[in-house]
Amino acid sequence: MSDCLFCKIVAGKIPSTKVYEDEFVYAFLDIAPQAPFHAVIIPKEHIGSADEITAQNSILIAKVFEAVAKIAKSENLEKGYRVVNNCGEDGGQTVHHIHFHLLARRNLAWPPG
Ligand code: AMP
Ligand code: ZN
Repeated sequence: MSDCLFCKIVAGKIPSTKVYEDEFVYAFLDIAPQAPFHAVIIPKEHIGSADEITAQNSILIAKVFEAVAKIAKSENLEKGYRVVNNCGEDGGQTVHHIHFHLLARRNLAWPPG
């Protein structure tokens, strides 16, 4: 089995608090929340980072954003939210399975630090 933390979460080998799941996507609460609502949304299939998005797998990224809209409705985030992808060392990526942070329920500063 892959040594990837988020692949293990998808497989249920590491516990998580699920907020959404479908055939292609899994979403769970971040263990170190940066906002009152902070979910991590991932394609179930392993893609290492935004740098590895291709014409063959980009449908999975579209599925992630379909999930964002569904979660925003189910969590009543009508005041707004931010979707963040950290890519690579300078981008602050620590888990090398592409993921999108969904942050909400506070006023989010812009530009980010
Ligand atoms: P990044 O720094 O963009 O790679 O984001 C990785 C995120 O995964 C961080 O916000 C971590 O808090 C979060 N994280 C790491 N391990 C877990 C876990 N076991 N369950 C939930 N979130 C996690
Ligand atoms: Zn993975």
